[in-house]
Amino acid sequence: MASWRLDDKVAIVTGAGNGLGKEYALYLASLGAKVVVNDLGSSTTGSGSSSSAADAVVNDIKQAGGEAVANYDSVVEGEKIVQTAINTYGRVDIVINNAGILRDVSFKRMSEKDWEAVYQVHLKGAFKVTRAAWPHMETNGYGRIVNITSPVGLYGNFGQANYVAMKRALVGFTLTLALEGAKKQIKANVVAPYAASRMSKTVMSSEMLEALPAAPVAKFIAFLCHEKCPESGGIFELGGNWVSKVRLQRSRGVQFRDGFDLEDISAHFKEICDFGEGSEFPTEGMSGMGHAMAARQKRPDG
Ligand code: NAD
Repeated sequence: MASWRLDDKVAIVTGAGNGLGKEYALYLASLGAKVVVNDLGSSTTGSGSSSSAADAVVNDIKQAGGEAVANYDSVVEGEKIVQTAINTYGRVDIVINNAGILRDVSFKRMSEKDWEAVYQVHLKGAFKVTRAAWPHMETNGYGRIVNITSPVGLYGNFGQANYVAMKRALVGFTLTLALEGAKKQIKANVVAPYAASRMSKTVMSSEMLEALPAAPVAKFIAFLCHEKCPESGGIFELGGNWVSKVRLQRSRGVQFRDGFDLEDISAHFKEICDFGEGSEFPTEGMSGMGHAMAARQKRPDG
């Protein structure tokens, strides 16, 4: 067990005053990490603020013999959160972008305010905290970033167009951080959890909540934060005692020899959407270019 310790590592966990973030902060601290417990102390929909949520978690960590400091800034002021880590512990090794709110409403009734509020906390907040931490990680030649998406951010959900859009954006954000961080040993992964929390109480049945404690999610997050984590750019979906990895699949597709019209598309649509033989699991942004260029290259008139 000693080899999985996080002694001397400094971790920022945003939204760590409640729910999953609290569990991550407590678990990382139990492994020896020094933790910046960030929490604005807002409601599930983002209203209000209070220092008591972050203070209570810091207190729990200290009571258990760990090290932690509270920060009450909103994640949109990411530089202040990172400054707390630097002022208190002199470095930052781990960032877990976890803070979140919901403004669920059907798209027809979604206001710009509902969209903007969810954007600010999930996406802009993750950008601001990570952007402020990045130079410190580069200087140290070490970093671990875990962005928290949601299963609905991977697959969509009725009444959550704002939340799903931001959670899906965090996946793309993570994939690019993984590429840009590779040279400096900065690894970024994204996790879609299922777990009981103040937030999930608003959308899950009591049976689901009972079956889905936050503790196993915290263990997987700690693995991704560890020096020995082999992965960067991974998309993981997990809950209870189940842990899985998710990837994109591309069908073999159809090469129309001499261009196509709408009737051709209709005639071949089933084949275009067929994930059987010849389908691929692309991992690079330009990986389809060869297919897209192939038909042109074969034509004698170029
Ligand atoms: P939660 O409501 O219990 O905790 C979220 C915390 O974030 C709260 O303590 C809140 O005060 C804090 N917060 C909100 N806005 C903030 C801001 N601007 N700055 C700093 N802190 C802020 O929710 P949770 O279920 O623990 O969710 C944690 C994360 O996990 C969220 O990103 C959520 O979208 C994601 N998630 C949770 C589940 C689940 O099953 N619980 C599923 C998928 C994704």
